[in-house]
Amino acid sequence: MAIYNRIAEIHEEMQVWRRDIHQHPELCFEEQRTAEIVAEKLKSFGLEVHEGIGITGVVGVLKGQGNSTRSIGIRADMDALPMQELNEFDYKSLIDGKMHACGHDGHTAILLGAAKYLAESRNFDGTVNFIFQPAEEGGGGGDAMVKDGLFERFPCDGVYGLHNQPGMPRGTVNIRSGPLMASADTAVLIIKGKGGHAGYPHLTIDPIAAAVQLHVALQTIVARNVGPVDNAVVSVTMFEAGSGSNIIPQDAKLTASIRTMTAEVRDLVEKRVREICTGIAQTHGVEIIVDYTRGYPSTVNHEKETYIAAKAAAEVVGPANVDTNTPVRMGSEDFAYMLQACPGAYMFLGTQDDTHFHSVHHPEYDFNDEVLSIGASLWAKLVEQQMPRS
Ligand SMILES: [Zn+2]
Ligand SMILES: [Zn+2]
Repeated sequence: MAIYNRIAEIHEEMQVWRRDIHQHPELCFEEQRTAEIVAEKLKSFGLEVHEGIGITGVVGVLKGQGNSTRSIGIRADMDALPMQELNEFDYKSLIDGKMHACGHDGHTAILLGAAKYLAESRNFDGTVNFIFQPAEEGGGGGDAMVKDGLFERFPCDGVYGLHNQPGMPRGTVNIRSGPLMASADTAVLIIKGKGGHAGYPHLTIDPIAAAVQLHVALQTIVARNVGPVDNAVVSVTMFEAGSGSNIIPQDAKLTASIRTMTAEVRDLVEKRVREICTGIAQTHGVEIIVDYTRGYPSTVNHEKETYIAAKAAAEVVGPANVDTNTPVRMGSEDFAYMLQACPGAYMFLGTQDDTHFHSVHHPEYDFNDEVLSIGASLWAKLVEQQMPRS
């Protein structure tokens, strides 16, 4: 590991920030306290600070030495999850039902550490925009910041983000050019039949019989329509129907989560869901109402910026610890919106060791503080490499 000496010195401080944020988790767009702490720290480092971008988002602007117009954006997410923490350490969540179970407390502390180091050293020529976004966990805070003019107000040649990953050994980095994480869409399918007595099915139109066939037919989309080497998931995650053993219900409802990596496959899957619903409706004489909602798009890394991020990572963790051809992930990430608005790259930083092995979103998960200085060094290296002083 090539950790900056100065960043190693502020490691303790970063850990204090991280654990304080961990104790005070805030959900989507409610990150008032976290945003205030971020803004106050950035100001104390001497940055120009802009608050309230995308509701609770914060941007800190730092100019290096020289007159270069080059610029880099680095993004951290600040929000926590609505779940109960089961850890018992002294900095566990103070708020019932809220927990930093995805490590966004760590991402925020890493970016603050990088800002502190870069503000002190200013060994670069250009502008760094430190982007702290709200509401990554389903709220679309990244999208909110982009729509609030993030990249018009703070132009960036490239924008970068990282996520901690307990499934990877501590200090390893995974990245790939092109699609990295999936889009996440939701289909709610309401099957409207005609209810009646269970003993007289011929007088009813059974929505459960139709819903069961619909579930089977939906499985053929990935198996028979999507190309074998493309990635897609159609998971029916909710099946709701019925209220008594002697009643054929009036309606049934299926909810599905749909994940794809490209716009073409995303369009294909939606088209097939709609066509299959039409076909099943005709076959069974039911009506099927399709409520199809597109969520986060797929996270697609740009080639040049992927190379830039991997190069900085290799300098810090060693080339052998950087995998630039990692398999795609079927989770989703709202950094996708920033990558649609600006070239950039997103990577995973491994955190797994003997004491940190729970997956993110597990009630006993905790961010591994050992990687705070690795992450901060990685961001510092990226800035100094891309915007060197002449
Ligand atoms: Zn998460
Ligand atoms: Zn996360």
